[in-house]
Amino acid sequence: MENGLTIVYTGKGKGKTTAALGIVLRAVGYEKKVCMIQFIKGSWHYGEMTSSKKLEPEFEMITVGKGFVGIIDDKTPKEDHKEIAKEAIKISNEKIQSGKYDIVILDEINYAVNLDLISVEDVLNLIKSKPQKVDLVLTGNYAKDEVIEIADLVTEMREIKHPFQRGVKAKKGIDF
Ligand code: ATP
Ligand code: MG
Repeated sequence: MENGLTIVYTGKGKGKTTAALGIVLRAVGYEKKVCMIQFIKGSWHYGEMTSSKKLEPEFEMITVGKGFVGIIDDKTPKEDHKEIAKEAIKISNEKIQSGKYDIVILDEINYAVNLDLISVEDVLNLIKSKPQKVDLVLTGNYAKDEVIEIADLVTEMREIKHPFQRGVKAKKGIDF
């Protein structure tokens, strides 16, 4: 049986979530079953929240968050963010253990640790207890050293240039 990989997309540069979505597109081409659990997201609409339905039933996407934490228009108490992040961990564990998916993507999970919504142990437990054949993808900047240590593939997106730096706003279909 082929061993599943633990893949991490981290770094400040743009492309972490879109790289994970690239895996979805590729894997569904082989009828593989993929589940993406989105941590933190929930206040904004991203194109993939709608287009994911076009890849059903092979692809399932679940958003389990309340949106930006501590920035922009966040009025949600930190405790509520924590509670829903715990829920996201629970759902992630169920999906990983279900035997229904070849690939499970934990989008923005690294940020959830960095923001203290969940602990790095929560993440390490998910990785260590995954069925051998399942591929796990974790995204978000500030991936912890312990996570990088046990991952098989780690890519750091490095920002060289981003239109945001010259005040260009997030673009529909490119950024969200
Ligand atoms: P994407 O979803 O576009 O692949 P990402 O997953 O690498 O980006 P996140 O840190 O999850 O980036 O950022 C969430 C939002 O911020 C996205 O809309 C993304 O396009 C945008 N973004 C990402 N990197 C930058 C950056 N360096 N400067 C400004 N905005 C960014
Ligand atoms: Mg992202």
